[in-house]
Amino acid sequence: MEKENYHCLSNETKLLHVPYLAKDAYNSLNMPIYHAVAYDFETAEQMELAFTGKSPEHVYSRISNPTVQYFEQRVKTVTNAAEVISFNSGMAAIVNTLMTVAYSGSNIVTSPHLFGNTYSFLASTLKDFDVEARFCDLTKPDEIKANIDKNTCALFLEIITNPQMEVADLCMLSCICKEHGIPLIADTTVVPFTAFHAADFGVDIEVVSSTKYISGGATSLGGLVIDYDSFDWRHSKKLNYLTSQKKLSAFSAKMRMEIYRNLGACMTPQVAYMQTTGLETLSVRYEHAAKTCKNLAEKISKLPNVSSVNYPALSNNAYYAVSQRQFGEYAGAMFTFDLASREAAFRFINNLKLIRRATNLFDNKTLAIHPASTIFGTFTETTRKSMDISQNTIRISTGLELIDDLYKDIVQATEL
Ligand SMILES: *Cc1c(COP(=O)(O)O)cnc(C)c1O
Repeated sequence: MEKENYHCLSNETKLLHVPYLAKDAYNSLNMPIYHAVAYDFETAEQMELAFTGKSPEHVYSRISNPTVQYFEQRVKTVTNAAEVISFNSGMAAIVNTLMTVAYSGSNIVTSPHLFGNTYSFLASTLKDFDVEARFCDLTKPDEIKANIDKNTCALFLEIITNPQMEVADLCMLSCICKEHGIPLIADTTVVPFTAFHAADFGVDIEVVSSTKYISGGATSLGGLVIDYDSFDWRHSKKLNYLTSQKKLSAFSAKMRMEIYRNLGACMTPQVAYMQTTGLETLSVRYEHAAKTCKNLAEKISKLPNVSSVNYPALSNNAYYAVSQRQFGEYAGAMFTFDLASREAAFRFINNLKLIRRATNLFDNKTLAIHPASTIFGTFTETTRKSMDISQNTIRISTGLELIDDLYKDIVQATEL
């Protein structure tokens, strides 16, 4: 493709045609899977340049790999980010991000409404390293401000919490972050970056479980850290020494050169290949699944045995206005609904004929789960209560089936 033409294209079209950084020997139309661990050099001098980062050659695949780098390049193109780093799971992306900003004696302001392992990482794993998680109500500006102090290293949140479906008001939250000189780090897994532009709403660092929408059909685990280079890291006690770095932000420099290499949770080339393919169909799949989700949630809210339906893109939802402003017509392809009791919820799960009983989100197949007894099953009832996990709630992640088939299955499962 002509270079001039390429630059005029929309990011989503560009995504499909990102050129390789080096010409492929066989003109392969898809980036090959480079199953390489190490890379060969002609001279000691070339080795020195590559190993000290003065030339761009790959040296060892835990540090960089051509197939993985190409996946990152594609994500960079569609998001307009300054830097993208991929990982072998969403949790690895979150852990590497928080390890990059946090230090002993620092604190992270966040919500108790978090993905289960993220909650456990903050409440337990980081606690052992003297990093305090301050769980507060992120819908209350005064409470957030009261929790921020000079040792706060980040505000961390999920854009729509799961399964509570609380939508973060990013304009309000990013203003607070700017006032206090702290970075806003958002887990945006539930609405893909083709539909939601996190940087436009003040998110500095985006973390994504690419296991979900991006992999496409639940083929593989993966994670992404997307750095928009919007935060002034001179405010960071830990990273300010890196701010004279020109090529990368202080955050990405610390992550790329140290944390990522030391923790070793790199994405593998096979996964990068599958997820590059997933990226190509991401926005088409999302549009279909999210439309089904919205229409299904609306239809189900009228069923006699369903006491409430929670999907922020429905006009009667408490977060409707903020959801529309940030995410447009749809608020992801996941909704929850409540039945009369835990027993009714178990009966519903057992009665399903088409919808699959499984965790995970944004598979091509529609999935149902009872979060309280599964994802949050090992937490104490007190912790579950503090996280607002109800025994009556069912979570549905919509896939690519036709809506009528899904609706019929839900109707029969709620009637029995
Ligand atoms: C699944 C998920 C994660 C964890 O991702 P893995 O790829 O399973 O490690 C983190 N955050 C959210 C919101 C998720 O849905």
